[in-house]
Amino acid sequence: MNSQPTVSQDNMNSTELSIESVKKELYKRNHPSVTPIDIEAHAETVYQILKLKKKHNVVMLGHNYMEPLVFGLSTKNEQGDSLALSMHAAKTDAPYILFNGVPFMAETAKILNPSKTVLAADKTAGCSLADNFGAEEVRKLKALYPGVPVMIYINSYADAKAESDICCTSANAAHIAREMPGDEILFVPDIFFAENLEEELRGTKTVFFPGKGNREKGAVCEVHEKFLLSDLLAIRGSFDIPKGHPTRVLYAHWECRPEVLQEADFYGSTSQIGQDIAKRVEEDRLERAFVASECELTSNLGQEFPTVQFSTACSVRCSHMAKVTLDKVLNVLQALDKGDDLSPHEVTLMPEVIERARTPIERMLELSA
Ligand code: SF4
Repeated sequence: MNSQPTVSQDNMNSTELSIESVKKELYKRNHPSVTPIDIEAHAETVYQILKLKKKHNVVMLGHNYMEPLVFGLSTKNEQGDSLALSMHAAKTDAPYILFNGVPFMAETAKILNPSKTVLAADKTAGCSLADNFGAEEVRKLKALYPGVPVMIYINSYADAKAESDICCTSANAAHIAREMPGDEILFVPDIFFAENLEEELRGTKTVFFPGKGNREKGAVCEVHEKFLLSDLLAIRGSFDIPKGHPTRVLYAHWECRPEVLQEADFYGSTSQIGQDIAKRVEEDRLERAFVASECELTSNLGQEFPTVQFSTACSVRCSHMAKVTLDKVLNVLQALDKGDDLSPHEVTLMPEVIERARTPIERMLELSA
């Protein structure tokens, strides 16, 4: 007989699952942006979700940009950025994957593990990068640069990936571009990312991208484009983070504008920023930080690294990611529990799209292993 389900979050593994145990754990986390009001209002929903997650053996992947209570539904090894979550999705034996992120992420999970039922709390969540650059746009650029390998950012839909030679994430783009044969690469769709990659590869590889010497339109992340150089300079002043300070650091994500990356003390992917923070904390070299990225990333880093004083721009929130809420997650699990039609929540792809899109993703995983 099965034992009483336990809370699936890491710190609650040994605790019998109940509303009280959930509340206790949430209070214990001392999350800087989860107040007692939030805990009292949402503990029961969190409890219901964790109970159904356990009952149906659901892997719940949580992207770092999820609001803290949604992010905390995932265990530590179910949390991460696009690359980490793709790798987890590829390996899991669980029958259901519920992806708390935007739909292109859930598509990647489906491509890598097509026999599993992949669910999304909100299939309409969208993304300014993926929504504005599809298969047709890739084909047009390929025609302009015949023979040049196409590297597509993972923040794209499966049909666009299916037209490409290899995928990349912000954690491995420079490495993968260097590993690709030849001295030219066509990068799509993120224009700022492409410019940053061009700078990184200067002297070793020519990077073509939408809008550079052609009339094609690319896309940008509507969240990271908000950060201007003037904002970073103002943040240095108001939060007292001088450039090059030994224990105060200004971080920026790859999707930010080139001049923002140049101003930052450290730039990288979400996971690389997290790793740098962890290393500095371990060595007692980080007292204060600002991360030019999605605001909930900083909220979640604040819980993980309580000794660091984080400043954040709360208004810089991804409206697409924010569509994933506790209530919607519970709604999916309740549908599963009742045996309802899962099609409103299930992410499906045509078999030939899965087949064609898998190759560039698997190539990426091989090269980043
Ligand atoms: S932060 Fe939002 S808009 Fe930007 S790439 Fe991610 S999902 Fe897309």
